[in-house]
Amino acid sequence: MSAQSAVVPVPPNDRPRAVPLTHSPEGRHRVVVIGGGFAGMNVVRGLRKSDVDVTLIDRRNHHLFQPLLYQVATGSLSPANIAAPLRGMFDRQSNTTVLLGEAVGFDVERRVVKLSGEKNPTTAGGPHDEIPYDTLIVASGSTHSYFGRDEWAPYAPGLKTIEDAIEIRRRILLAFEEAERESAPEIREAWMTFVLVGGGPTGVELAGSIAEIALNTLKNDFRRIDPADARIVIADGGDRILGSYDEELSRYADRDLRAMGVEIYNDTRVTEVTATEVTLSPEDGSPSSKLAARTVVWCAGVRASRLGNQLAEATGCPCDREGRVKIEPTLTLPERPEIFVLGDLAHFDHPPAKAKNKPSDGPLPGVAQVAMQQGKHVAGTIRRRLRGRTDEPFEYTNLGNMAVIGRGAAVADLFGRYHATGGFAWLMWLAIHVMYIVGYQSRLLVLIQWAYHYVTMDRGARLITGQTLPVQFQAEAKEARDAERRNAAPPSKAPQETSEQKDAEADEDEAPRELDRTPALAGSGAAG
Ligand SMILES: Cc1cc2nc3c(=O)[nH]c(=O)nc-3n(C[C@H](O)[C@H](O)[C@H](O)COP(=O)(O)OP(=O)(O)OC[C@H]3O[C@@H](n4cnc5c(N)ncnc54)[C@H](O)[C@@H]3O)c2cc1C
Repeated sequence: MSAQSAVVPVPPNDRPRAVPLTHSPEGRHRVVVIGGGFAGMNVVRGLRKSDVDVTLIDRRNHHLFQPLLYQVATGSLSPANIAAPLRGMFDRQSNTTVLLGEAVGFDVERRVVKLSGEKNPTTAGGPHDEIPYDTLIVASGSTHSYFGRDEWAPYAPGLKTIEDAIEIRRRILLAFEEAERESAPEIREAWMTFVLVGGGPTGVELAGSIAEIALNTLKNDFRRIDPADARIVIADGGDRILGSYDEELSRYADRDLRAMGVEIYNDTRVTEVTATEVTLSPEDGSPSSKLAARTVVWCAGVRASRLGNQLAEATGCPCDREGRVKIEPTLTLPERPEIFVLGDLAHFDHPPAKAKNKPSDGPLPGVAQVAMQQGKHVAGTIRRRLRGRTDEPFEYTNLGNMAVIGRGAAVADLFGRYHATGGFAWLMWLAIHVMYIVGYQSRLLVLIQWAYHYVTMDRGARLITGQTLPVQFQAEAKEARDAERRNAAPPSKAPQETSEQKDAEADEDEAPRELDRTPALAGSGAAG
């Protein structure tokens, strides 16, 4: 055998390649980024000095610091403290255009992103609904998953957006108000029972914060109830809370939360959620139990944004069960080097040797660190390509995980190796979160509010906004109205509805929150 024939061919995906770049008719390379979250923001920032045209598309006008959403949901911070307008973030970056719009599909042959025309019917189908790209970065994140039980969503909202946080804050504060007005002890108890479905970081942080509200913040606010009587329950399907953390940290969090009065049910699945109760089913097959609770927050599953499926349809790329797109070591789609997928939307599962301190086997977790590092890596890849250099594989460095348990207490897993708990971990958590909040002003305001909150135990953003009709009444109101309609108009004799009437009814159905709280409905809610 000759020396030449002994050379082992390099598999196509590992072969270094210089990706040829296409350009606009004006000769500029066009980079389109979908999603201004942690991943997308870091791509755009990393291209600030590059000779490219960047278009950032987001359906929201702001970047959101999701790790602090629970503080908005529990009244510690205001929404503006943790969100920064995308236009303001990139106003000085002259190569970048920000577009408010929702990406709904792709034509990868023509290299265009399709935007929804819904928001602006006058331009629907017009030229602004298709954004051409030479390089496309899809970083549209994830959303909650109710594991096929989407009907639970109205009774157990998840925490993902500012609107979610405000809604959860509304429900938590409203629950204490309803309890103060309620005379039936068992219903009062149900109003004062808060169930967190899922014992991951979000469930743990929310439980700790609600306990603080009950024990400290609201201590002197009510006359007929004692907020300290609130029951706060975590139900988790795994054998311990903070299942992705080291066992020692889970134990610490478990002990601290229980000391604050939080009830923790491990190995317990939630198998039904209604407006007034939650069914808990132990994994060991023992009988299920019903817990009367009027405030439930979904902190369990997540699934990738719908754009993952859209990409799969357009390119044939593989997705996992959660809808995350399986990507190459260079963060591109297989056979589509001009399309990158990052952050929570991506399923990146490559040899541990390429990930420093990788937390565990399997795909990288959906955390901000992964999204940020991937965003920086892709910006670097584009800069390399502009210089005619080859792509390099992504290597993740696990900097660690943290979760706050309560005032001055946290758990921290540093670099996947070192652990810290208590006040020291809390101080580290504080420093790191302040460091990553976008905008100097927000950082300063957050620090001041935390300092004030730490000293006084007060929560300044304790506002009930929007409807003061609790969700339970909204659902019952809709049912009552539907029943009334059915009774009022027997189908055989009913006159044909006009399309206007149908539209009006549909609008009404979609907006149960607009209903007034009539005495009759309030009565039926109280009885239920
Ligand atoms: C409550 C909560 C607490 C968390 N706590 C932590 C924590 O403590 N530590 C940690 O590391 N991670 C935490 N995470 C996870 C972390 O926030 C995510 O991993 C990270 O935000 C993922 O970044 P991303 O850029 O992939 O997506 P995102 O930050 O979710 O950004 C996606 C962006 O895409 C936009 N978008 C979505 N669909 C479309 C569309 N069709 N068209 C246009 N735009 C679209 C969205 O508006 C959004 O701006 C937490 C997440 C949540 C929800």
